[in-house]
Amino acid sequence: MAQLGKLPGIGRKTALRLALHLLRQEEDVAVGLGEALIALRREIRYCRECHNICEDEVCDICRSTRRDHSVVCVVENVKDVLTIEATHEFTGVYHVLGGVISPLDGIAPSDLEIESLCERVRGGGIREVILALNPTIEGDTTNFYIFRKLAETGVTVSILARGISIGNELEYTDELTLGRSIINRVPFSAT
Ligand code: ZN
Repeated sequence: MAQLGKLPGIGRKTALRLALHLLRQEEDVAVGLGEALIALRREIRYCRECHNICEDEVCDICRSTRRDHSVVCVVENVKDVLTIEATHEFTGVYHVLGGVISPLDGIAPSDLEIESLCERVRGGGIREVILALNPTIEGDTTNFYIFRKLAETGVTVSILARGISIGNELEYTDELTLGRSIINRVPFSAT
């Protein structure tokens, strides 16, 4: 029960209700749930290209011939891919960093998929990199770091228009505003 209570959005009362529900079921229901959770954990894979979660080596977005592979949108995590996809305004591909640079939390650039992003750009075929990290201090630090790293490649680096007010996380921004800020993205400036 303590384990159930650790899940997001599940308080002590809900954990108790779930535990009682499972106890009332036949044993194989609980066993099946446990096995499904183990399988979820073991079988989850990350796209070789963009590091989004997927079932194969390469995700559906990277594999799609209908997407513009010359425009890469850099996001913090997998959830942000889903949020941006929901706007239906972005037709390019993604690069999931797996977090942002945060010295206080001990997260260094080498802990993130930044080098693989640079490699992707150096590999050619990419004309624009859109920075779509959350507008936090850590997000800004990471934007600047990536911008500096990509400077030598000559790729265009742009950033979401800040219709998103500071402190608002991407996933809480309404789809219309986010969609608009992708369309109205501006060149990244280091100042
Ligand atoms: Zn992918």
